[in-house]
Amino acid sequence: MKEEPKQELLSVDRIRQMIDLYNPCTDDYLFVLDFENDSYYISPHALERFLLPGCYFHNVSDTLLRVTCEEDRQALTDDLADILSTERVTHNMVYRWRGLDGQPIWINCRGRVARGEDKRALYMVGCINEIGRKQKADNVSGLLGETSLQTWMQGFQDEIPDGYFLRMGLDNFKSINAKLGVEYGDMILRKMGDFTISCVHHGQHLYRIVADEFVIVDFNGGTAKEAVDLYMEIRRMLDRFVEENHYEAFVTVSAGILQCKDVQDFSWSQIMKLSEFALTEAKQLGKNRSYVFMQEDYDRFLKKKKLTQVLRQAVASNFEGFEVYYQPIFLSKDGSLSGAEALMRFHLDDEMVMPGEFISILEDTGLIIPAGRWILHEALKFAKQMQQVIPGFRVNVNVSYVQVMKSDVVTDIMDALKQYDISPEHLIIELTESGLIESDTYFTRLWTQLKESGVKLALDDFGTGYSNFHYLNELRPDIIKIDRSFTMRAMANEYEFNLLSLLNGMVKSLELKVCVEGVETAEECDKIAVLPPDYSQGFYFGRPCPRADFEKKFVNSGTVSNDIVH
Ligand code: C2E
Ligand code: CA
Ligand code: CA
Repeated sequence: MKEEPKQELLSVDRIRQMIDLYNPCTDDYLFVLDFENDSYYISPHALERFLLPGCYFHNVSDTLLRVTCEEDRQALTDDLADILSTERVTHNMVYRWRGLDGQPIWINCRGRVARGEDKRALYMVGCINEIGRKQKADNVSGLLGETSLQTWMQGFQDEIPDGYFLRMGLDNFKSINAKLGVEYGDMILRKMGDFTISCVHHGQHLYRIVADEFVIVDFNGGTAKEAVDLYMEIRRMLDRFVEENHYEAFVTVSAGILQCKDVQDFSWSQIMKLSEFALTEAKQLGKNRSYVFMQEDYDRFLKKKKLTQVLRQAVASNFEGFEVYYQPIFLSKDGSLSGAEALMRFHLDDEMVMPGEFISILEDTGLIIPAGRWILHEALKFAKQMQQVIPGFRVNVNVSYVQVMKSDVVTDIMDALKQYDISPEHLIIELTESGLIESDTYFTRLWTQLKESGVKLALDDFGTGYSNFHYLNELRPDIIKIDRSFTMRAMANEYEFNLLSLLNGMVKSLELKVCVEGVETAEECDKIAVLPPDYSQGFYFGRPCPRADFEKKFVNSGTVSNDIVH
């Protein structure tokens, strides 16, 4: 330990004189606690604020406890006892004193203990400030605020305590304010504060941070399970409140739980970041529930964040890193090559990222609009080149519901067809059913316009989610693409196979075409041949590959098809 520089001891009387001298110069309250005489002197203007018997008094411990709010008395007693029984020289506590009107006032009391030769505590000089005045506390919920939490946390940087942070956020709080008014919102916050106060245990600390969030800190070895139980207790109180108020406001609360042991860098910013992530996860998992922080989830989140940045950059720098793979599609009747599906790939640090990982990011960020336009152009360029060898070659391009809803995808398609001089029937646009339900009116408009233009339409991923046979007759897609999961089920289960067979027959009777996806083995191929579908696509016939490989593998060596979907 570092040796403290020797300081000259002042007499308590001299310190009292100095306090009087400083009294008019500050809003804070200076004090001296004389351990030897059991007396206490505080700046006289403290009497204008707190329920003190005078600015000078004896019997310090009892008097101070009387002015201290009940909830904080034990902590103060413990701290004073600790000063007397150890060699500690600093005192730093945030707690509540009673004001003249009996209401609690948050204070931060910091002091320095002067010790004699024998290390005995002689006196303590210090300063008390009202943190509420500095917006360190929140007068709506009656709780301490974020800055107070931050200041308190600074003491724990070297040694990570054992326990947890329970960060709770009201769900959809903004809409409560909007629908029922800010005063109603404040009342809910106050209630939430009250419920939380009544549930926290001795030694746990409670703060209200950003608008609608509350943090309970337990550094007493509390476990994640205990944090969940505590959250559930608060949630039940809130539920009861909502019920008693006849659902006037339907308020729920979510919680993110962060265990101290999971925080490697125990800094304020890191704790805020990780606890915020935990709360956001809880909300994303459906709200009104808790989530306990897990490093794997956080790593995945960071990876996604990085990928998002990289994708944005790549789109901005002329799609550098993006590549198109082509998977062959064969005509079942004679095994000839009919065309290819264009599938997006992305290269990141020598690794190939698959669409499963990045398409949803492109959709969430809207980047699918430029990226979708880019792949459309690449695919049509490719088709043009292939048509030199195979005149009827068709290319399939996937279009996302985001493109349908938020861009003029029909114009993009028409312009691109013109630019590469490709006739519309050689382009097949693949759309999924799930997107279809979400974007009803946009979708039907797009569908009609494309149909009129002569572009072919494929209903992708058939057999997943809510496959709706009713669509088939109404929409009359040119092709139904049976999803790999349906194909797999049909391979493994006779009932499913019969279903596939029935579907195949029905689609044919509607004069639509069927393409079976995900055929991986010769055995599967034989089984499928019984149906047979119009087209087959799968690893067994050919994996998606770059353009040059495609030409080598499937064009220069195989038979070709001039069949066109009518
Ligand atoms: P999808 O449209 O159903 O494309 C077929 C997917 O099945 C491709 O996965 C393909 O590699 C895979 N596949 C084909 N045959 C087999 C097989 O026999 N076995 C197995 N296990 N898989 C097979 P990929 O390339 O990973 O693409 C996944 C999904 O990402 C696509 O599913 C599509 O929904 C989306 N996607 C890919 N490229 C684009 C694009 O340019 N735009 C949009 N909007 N979505 C795209
Ligand atoms: Ca597809
Ligand atoms: Ca598909």
